[in-house]
Amino acid sequence: MAQRPYIVGNWKMHGTRAMLSEARAIDRAAERLLKVEVAIAPPFTLIHASRKEASLIGIGAQDCHAAEGGAHTGDISAAMLKDSGAGFVIVGHSERRADHGETDAAVKAKAEAALAAGLSVIVCVGETEAQRDSGEAESVVASQLQGSLPRGEGVADRITVAYEPVWAIGTGRTPTIEDIATMHRSIRARLGEAYGETGAQVRILYGGSVKPENASEILATEEVGGALVGGASLTAESFVGIIVAAT
Ligand code: PEP
Repeated sequence: MAQRPYIVGNWKMHGTRAMLSEARAIDRAAERLLKVEVAIAPPFTLIHASRKEASLIGIGAQDCHAAEGGAHTGDISAAMLKDSGAGFVIVGHSERRADHGETDAAVKAKAEAALAAGLSVIVCVGETEAQRDSGEAESVVASQLQGSLPRGEGVADRITVAYEPVWAIGTGRTPTIEDIATMHRSIRARLGEAYGETGAQVRILYGGSVKPENASEILATEEVGGALVGGASLTAESFVGIIVAAT
């Protein structure tokens, strides 16, 4: 059976408690749009409250530490996320790779810790503009997948891959539909290498300047199983527009 499209909002470092009304409104809309699986990743500080406000949509985090606990000031473990109501965590977002020097190995360690704590994981990959211009986009993404994906029995069931070209994030620019399709096909092939037959069930999300106006076309593209949405997930109005486009 085909999986439901998966639309995930990444709130990044946005949101105080005043924004819980958006989570509530997204949840109410998702109730009418059950053909789509909807989730948001608010900042750590809103995870618990979002879980209480929203009963239907998934609530997740934007990062976790790879260790179970210990002397890591300011960090949050996967078990803490689970305890606060998160069901999944995003790892390897390009902003974390750039701002915090996260390597593929670090991303993989975080993903493994999250799985061990009982969370699902969204692993982000994507090329820079210079890498695309020099024809390296597919090889860069293949290498990120090779280094970042956790392996093992049953892992494919709890992994989602988000393809997010770095140059498309927050810029209003998107790749052509052909380029999105080519990259998603390439990622699907890499998932087959990593997980065998079960690699076929891993959802691949597209992320980078998705908005209500371009969502239908992107979401109809071969192998695109949903979207990871930044800016347009910050208000229920625009995020619900994307969810509707996925139905
Ligand atoms: C993101 O940061 O994951 C993202 C896709 O951002 P935006 O939708 O704003 O490009």
